[in-house]
Amino acid sequence: MAAIQKIGVIGAGQMGNGIAHVCASAGFDVVLLDISEEALKKGIATIEKNLARQLSKGRISEADKAGTLGRIKTTTAYADFGDSDLVIEAATEDEAVKRKIFAMLCPALKPEAYIASNTSSISITRLGASTDRPAKFMGMHFMNPVPVMQLVELIRGIATAEETFSLVRDMVMKLGKSPVSAEDFPAFIVNRILLPMINEAVYTLYEGVGSVEAIDTAMKLGANHPMGPLELADFIGLDTCLAIMHVLHDGLADTKYRPCPLLVKYVEAGWLGRKTGRGFYDYSGEKPVPTR
Ligand code: NAD
Repeated sequence: MAAIQKIGVIGAGQMGNGIAHVCASAGFDVVLLDISEEALKKGIATIEKNLARQLSKGRISEADKAGTLGRIKTTTAYADFGDSDLVIEAATEDEAVKRKIFAMLCPALKPEAYIASNTSSISITRLGASTDRPAKFMGMHFMNPVPVMQLVELIRGIATAEETFSLVRDMVMKLGKSPVSAEDFPAFIVNRILLPMINEAVYTLYEGVGSVEAIDTAMKLGANHPMGPLELADFIGLDTCLAIMHVLHDGLADTKYRPCPLLVKYVEAGWLGRKTGRGFYDYSGEKPVPTR
């Protein structure tokens, strides 16, 4: 079992650019792919901004920053994953999108390469079965923001080989992160618990029990949460929150997981939270302003 050296990352959004950042910081060579040059430019700009913040806080040196950026190459062509040892898929939370990606990825990979998905909720067994290497496929669920958060949930699909699991677990340790193993049930551990709370916060808003500000203040001061649930929903992305609620609802067939209609409306409006400048808060000014 050869150690992992070259990493591919698919999707340069908030998770993908964070994954590329921490892998390159730990000394891995990274190829980062997205559908457009524009998405890649945005991803690299975010990595630069986050490295500059780490530098200003004295956590890294100028040489670390340059070294990290130097180890990340960007591409829109799957052929550039030809020598990758592990490819981590972090594209949009949509099973059809991920399946299309794996169909293009597999023929470009060397036979011994591994694939991991950063999905927040979709069945690892089902995603693995859509590839040509289910034994070399597993879930690798990073937390947002990736450079800051300590946890990576590791999920075996039914066909995942033990060798795959231990290789990826070793790699997580090399990133300086802490792995926790979760079974392949909808949304795994963190989001199985977190997302129903966020959905309930949206119901609380929908039913008029409290305003955005009241709900977030109540949970910060009353439950000692560092962020309120609506602030957190905007941070995760409301499209991702809704997609995870659908996976819980469909996968566990329990009405307690039904997505709040207000969450659906926000997503339909394209108000996806921080990434689009508006969600439960408006981010166009200096300070976020509650929208309800
Ligand atoms: P995002 O919307 O910020 O980024 C998604 C990226 O995927 C975009 O850059 C988009 O251009 C790209 N993309 C879409 N289709 C593609 C394709 N066919 N080929 C290549 N790239 C494509 O989303 P995100 O928040 O980074 O989420 C990405 C994944 O990470 C999802 O599976 C999500 O569930 C998971 N995740 C999200 C969070 C979170 O807090 N947001 C936390 C853990 C895991």
